[in-house]
Amino acid sequence: MIRPICRLGNPILREICKKLTKQEVLSDKFTQLKQDLFDSMKHYGGIGIAAPQIGVNAQVALIDLEASNRYGAEITLPKTYFINPQITVLSDSSEGNWEGCLSVPGMRGYVERPNHIKVTYYNEVFEEESFETHGFLAVVIQHELDHLYGKLYIDHIKDMSLLSFQEEFETFILPQK
Ligand code: ZN
Repeated sequence: MIRPICRLGNPILREICKKLTKQEVLSDKFTQLKQDLFDSMKHYGGIGIAAPQIGVNAQVALIDLEASNRYGAEITLPKTYFINPQITVLSDSSEGNWEGCLSVPGMRGYVERPNHIKVTYYNEVFEEESFETHGFLAVVIQHELDHLYGKLYIDHIKDMSLLSFQEEFETFILPQK
């Protein structure tokens, strides 16, 4: 079911989400939550979504980079639900990207993040999994998992002159890239 997206200013986006138990993850209610995350992400055109963005305080985020090719075909991740996830930063070097967010619609901002991470999480059958990743996928994972800790990409913008409406981004900034 497509759910409305909670936007900047809604206090749920600033909450620290609760960890899920195995029993919760294996429940019908959680199956519905996964479907709602997927339906909402697809409907609003996101490549990732986190539970608080649809009004649910729970540590689960979804990323699906396979279907999307606007960011480059070489960076893919099949539909993955990250449950109770944790990130370990593996490199000091960072990478800057113009990020956007369904909860901050119509805007883009320049954010620098570590570009080499390891992510550990529980999968849909509550088994622990982990992998290392670089570059754009590492950025997307950090963006989505931040939502589970009450953080938004705008919190990471160091230079506020690099926050723009999407239209102005396309008019003034994109042509210079
Ligand atoms: Zn977001």
